[in-house]
Amino acid sequence: MAVYYLVATLFGLIVGSFANVVIYRVPLHKSIAYPPSHCPECGERIAWYDNVPIVSFVVLRARCRKCGKPIAAQYPMIEAFCGLLFLWSAFTYGRSLRAAVAAVFLVTLLILAMIDVDHRVLPNVIVLPLMAFGLVVVAAGFTLRADVLPLVFSSALGPWPSAAARALLGFALGGGILLLLALVYRGGMGGGDIKLMAAIGLFLGPYVLFDLFVGVLLGSISGIYLIAVKGRSRKDLIPFGPFLVIGAYATLLWGEQVVGAYLKLVGFA
Ligand SMILES: [Zn+2]
Repeated sequence: MAVYYLVATLFGLIVGSFANVVIYRVPLHKSIAYPPSHCPECGERIAWYDNVPIVSFVVLRARCRKCGKPIAAQYPMIEAFCGLLFLWSAFTYGRSLRAAVAAVFLVTLLILAMIDVDHRVLPNVIVLPLMAFGLVVVAAGFTLRADVLPLVFSSALGPWPSAAARALLGFALGGGILLLLALVYRGGMGGGDIKLMAAIGLFLGPYVLFDLFVGVLLGSISGIYLIAVKGRSRKDLIPFGPFLVIGAYATLLWGEQVVGAYLKLVGFA
């Protein structure tokens, strides 16, 4: 199993290197395939041996080999984080297709969060394929949560619907609630947020509600902090997408335990 974890992590680092390219180029409407990686300062093409995830950053001491301009620390951090996401997926889901689905889902969310922070946009060219991928996963018949809810509902409300029905419920809840909020409050919530939440719902099923809860909570705390303490105006606030992504991560990490404990507390389970 150790070899599996190692391979998963190394593969995650390579995917992270590609994620950097997507984060940098897609919002600028540049091709992700051409031209090959180059220094943004001097334009020098980066050789493969200077493009090894994390290692090259250390060897080059965070500077371009040709012009010596600094390389942003964000690049190796994204690579390391993607390695971690792949390792976590391999560890959590074992040697299964769910591990691969989880890894792709988590890395795509990371890419979207980074782009939203930098450009305040969740590009359709990434959100819509994530949605399509979610539908394929639904067609294959599983979500990423093992689900404590079915146990609760099968006793309380009769049999719980299939994995596909749960995923579509997550899609409707995630997209529907944000759509409603957008209509009621007008502004603040973008179309990108609504589509992202619907896509996340396909993977999390009804647990998308936990994501939404965490996202709104963190978004509100950050908003209050920035306005009340830092004296920022509304337009300086952090976009909502990254909070929804953190919420999705939290859901996969702790959603089941927290929701399960809550249901026990209120005497439902
Ligand atoms: Zn350079």
